[in-house]
Amino acid sequence: MNEIIRNYETLLADIQKKSAGRTFLLPVSKTFPASDIKILYDYGVRHFAENRLQELDPKSHELPSDIKWHFIGHLQSNKVRKVVPLAYAIHSVDSVSLLDKIDRAAAEFQHHVKCFIEFKPEGEDSKTGAGINLADELFERAEKCSEYCTVCGIMGMAPLGGTAEQNSAAFKKLHDLLDYANTKFKLNMTELSMGMSGDYTEAISQGSTIVRIGSAIFGKRDYQI
Ligand SMILES: *Cc1c(COP(=O)(O)O)cnc(C)c1O
Repeated sequence: MNEIIRNYETLLADIQKKSAGRTFLLPVSKTFPASDIKILYDYGVRHFAENRLQELDPKSHELPSDIKWHFIGHLQSNKVRKVVPLAYAIHSVDSVSLLDKIDRAAAEFQHHVKCFIEFKPEGEDSKTGAGINLADELFERAEKCSEYCTVCGIMGMAPLGGTAEQNSAAFKKLHDLLDYANTKFKLNMTELSMGMSGDYTEAISQGSTIVRIGSAIFGKRDYQI
């Protein structure tokens, strides 16, 4: 059996066991060639995640059109109109102005896109994600999205090099924020996109519904973005 498929199968079994079937395994294919994605595609996998338009664009045109692409990287506002038509979901919405631009592009292109608000649970440590102090204004804007832009959940990352306890605490904050948003705002967010190769076990224990996993499936990346 191919190594990528073996890794995927092993992870899938582990994730299904740890989450009682509640958590979705999203392969992160950034930096890996289209040929690696095709191996999993032929095995039946249809969802993949990329973090840069420069990679998403060529891969989405080279690979079969029924792939559902998740954009998980920092999204610059001048790239929104290029990313939205290619994306099934955008996990990295970290400002009101970005959500505004995505909502307007989705309506203009009549292209449905699911959005996740990205928060940094541990303050200034991480490079991306909105501060939790901006949560209310983001959720208020999320309430007003058109039918083409569905804000379905929250995404976040644990601090780099955190212990299992620190990771769990960060993921719990994100889960609490989801509950807060659904109680206080006219939102019905069901998704928590949290957990990567190194911390998915803690993420699942805190209620993750989507784990984004790259290196544990495709192998070590030559360079880190
Ligand atoms: C690269 C990346 C991942 C996957 O990381 P691995 O450690 O390779 O599993 C998940 N989420 C985001 C936002 C990423 O950029």
